[in-house]
Amino acid sequence: MRDIKDLTLEELRQVLQGWKQAGFHARQIFSWIYKKGIQDFSQMSDLPADLRRRLQENFFILDFRLARVFQSGDGTEKSLFALKDKSFIEAVIIPAEKRLTGCVSTQVGCRFNCRFCASGLGGFKRNLTTGEILGEVLYLKNNLGHKRLSHIVFMGVGEPLDNYNNLLKAIRIINSGYSFNIAARRITISTCGIIPGIKRLADEGLQIELSVSLHASDDKTRSALMLVNRKYPLKDLIAACSEYIKKTNRQITFEYVLIKNANSDLQSARNLSTILKDLNLSKVNLIPCNTVRELKVGPPDKPQVLLFRDYLLKSGVKVTLRKPRGQDIEAACGQLRLRYEKK
Ligand code: SAH
Repeated sequence: MRDIKDLTLEELRQVLQGWKQAGFHARQIFSWIYKKGIQDFSQMSDLPADLRRRLQENFFILDFRLARVFQSGDGTEKSLFALKDKSFIEAVIIPAEKRLTGCVSTQVGCRFNCRFCASGLGGFKRNLTTGEILGEVLYLKNNLGHKRLSHIVFMGVGEPLDNYNNLLKAIRIINSGYSFNIAARRITISTCGIIPGIKRLADEGLQIELSVSLHASDDKTRSALMLVNRKYPLKDLIAACSEYIKKTNRQITFEYVLIKNANSDLQSARNLSTILKDLNLSKVNLIPCNTVRELKVGPPDKPQVLLFRDYLLKSGVKVTLRKPRGQDIEAACGQLRLRYEKK
């Protein structure tokens, strides 16, 4: 049995043609699954009966279950999904005035072990398949009733660009008019700075949003906070970002988690503004560090946060300061983690 969500429209069409069925049924099947949220082939009433049977024998639509939903006092909602291999993944719904954002995981665990992030704590287990990534979106939009879902951010557990092929396929399907029809500009990939992935992405011809988790403005600090910097140091990362901007004419958002006694002094702000001065079309999103029990990190005092932001503003950098969402249910940035089912 295969996950039908692993197939693009074209791939599904080829399967159908191999079965001597009309190719246009692929569009109907997509619409039943992604638009109408039907999870049983037998209910796809405009398909010939023999095709429905054949689909049922060869494919499944969703093979994991919703284990729990956590509601935050601020409207954020975290879902815990139990996968077939008994590991869990998490996805978060973040409502805002004009948008409803789904924050989606791309891997079971994470291999990058950033000092301040809970996602690496349990280690890395495996990549999510394209079908599983789409399954998260399907749950959020249909089963959990968030029909208005307007934006997708790949900022859940895992490193999106470490699961490049499955992710890109999922994005193309999310983007498809026959599926969720969410515009590429409303889809954000966030990366800890995988240079080869950024380079590949620049050539995809997709108008997606790219966020780069920077978190430090010198190699010593960045390598202490993010192991990935030892492989892909700042100078090379910034050069790759610059090339990305030139090629795509798209802006990059740099994420900067402000961590007490680590990266939030004025010298860091100065270095940051120097780095970004040469990058057109970029902005910084400051995130006061959310606490993770096991990791001894926390945010600087409020005045320090404002000082840092104001320094950047004064030097002409575009800055936003992110409000934490869903901290009470451990759904805020960096608080999602690998969980296993207790036997
Ligand atoms: N692996 C990708 C996707 C994760 S996105 C990446 O690194 O970009 C999650 C974002 O939350 C990243 O910017 C991450 O650095 C940030 N983050 C991690 N731990 C955090 C914490 N404790 N407080 C605030 N943000 C955190």
